[in-house]
Amino acid sequence: MDKVRTRFAPSPTGFLHVGGIRTALFAWLVARQANGKFILRLEDTDQKREVAGSAEHLIKSLRSLGLDYDEGPDKAGEYGPYRQSERLDIYQKWAQKLIEQGRAYADPYSPEEVQAFREKAQKAKQPFLYRNHRPDNPPQWDGSQPLRFKSDPKPYQWHDEVMGDLSTGPEVIDDFILIKSDGFPTYNFAHVVDDAEMQITHIIRGQEFIASMPNYLNLYEALDISHPIFATMPHILNEQGNKKLSKRDGAKDILDYIKEGYLPEALRSFIATLGWNDGTEQEVFSTDELISKFSLQRVGKSGAHFDERRLNWVNGYFIRQKSIDELLANVDSFWPKASSNYDDKYKKQVLGLVQERLKYFSELPELTSFFFADLPINPTLISGHKQLKKLEVTEVKQLLETVEQSLSESDFTTQDLTDRLNDLLLSTETKPAVLFSLVRIATTQAPASPGLAETMNVLGKETSLRRIQTQITHL
Ligand code: GLU
Repeated sequence: MDKVRTRFAPSPTGFLHVGGIRTALFAWLVARQANGKFILRLEDTDQKREVAGSAEHLIKSLRSLGLDYDEGPDKAGEYGPYRQSERLDIYQKWAQKLIEQGRAYADPYSPEEVQAFREKAQKAKQPFLYRNHRPDNPPQWDGSQPLRFKSDPKPYQWHDEVMGDLSTGPEVIDDFILIKSDGFPTYNFAHVVDDAEMQITHIIRGQEFIASMPNYLNLYEALDISHPIFATMPHILNEQGNKKLSKRDGAKDILDYIKEGYLPEALRSFIATLGWNDGTEQEVFSTDELISKFSLQRVGKSGAHFDERRLNWVNGYFIRQKSIDELLANVDSFWPKASSNYDDKYKKQVLGLVQERLKYFSELPELTSFFFADLPINPTLISGHKQLKKLEVTEVKQLLETVEQSLSESDFTTQDLTDRLNDLLLSTETKPAVLFSLVRIATTQAPASPGLAETMNVLGKETSLRRIQTQITHL
């Protein structure tokens, strides 16, 4: 087989959500696995839909996820330019070829006339086909009219690596527009030309194009070019699996995940397993494993469910695999403000305590702020606590004073703190849910924290005792 060349061909009409990035990831994996090339092509022929800044945004998204491309708008290659708006002469050349062969013609109708044909067909309960209105003597094409493909309707059978063997009858084939009256090609024409010119071996793209496949096959034939391998990705569905993932279900900009502190390697693993598995129960994959194990044939035909809780779990898994030093390097921009007065040694101790429960890095301030600053007393932590709210204020006060007394004699090693807390359970005849919660609230002013003895050990004696004292005076 030819050297594998795959492409990601987004239109710069917005941000990249999880569906788009999955297509890019699969194309990247197919190329990397075969030591082939991965190409980025910007499909910017629909000027009306273009969103300013979107091309840069798409490129940044690919980069953040580590999906490096070998050729692209900002990476010269043999087959450039890689922006369709800079390739108009190439489309003209291929269009002329079709005109000369009698396989393309100028569309003489106004949009209103075409609309009238459409309505007539609707009234007659017939499917609308443009080719039923093909003009007998079309004018010479001068670029001011749309250029249409003169189709050759016939049945087709073809293979899709994901969807399997497919077939259609001649009725789905029609005369589609190749070049619009603004001089830009349609996607239908441009991608066929570009994939041929750029020697693309695999087209990996979304489900929305599958209905047009017979038209593309008809065009490949007319142009006398062999088509690449096709792989159609099913939609990504919402968590319930009852509709296509939409913005409302969390189809957000992939860069937002990066901003929230999700790890690129975790996102790659999670996104790859939206619809793909390696045939075992394995749920998390390193990128090297993805490259060696990925296959288009193992992508499911039906839509994959997007479940953000699973993403959080996968990300937490990757966080737990990191050494504290790696973690420290990763979380640099996520610490709470007050942490700037603390050194790396202290921060590493804090990370060691929260690594287990951290799902993504932007949770860091919420989970760790009390390690860096005294939080204001929050009386509802006691008054709203299931067990503590049953106690009289004097009882709470007395408990804290007993704790303070014992801890003032502690060397604040984790072991000594653990021993003392356990002894206090016995001497005060209280349950852990009462005593430990109370000490946790007093020393952190947070509803949850890592292990109590470990937390106090990191906070240190002075801070812990000061906070207990402050809590007592506020009771
Ligand atoms: N420009 C198309 C889109 O963004 C790409 C489809 C394809 O990959 O061929 O949907």
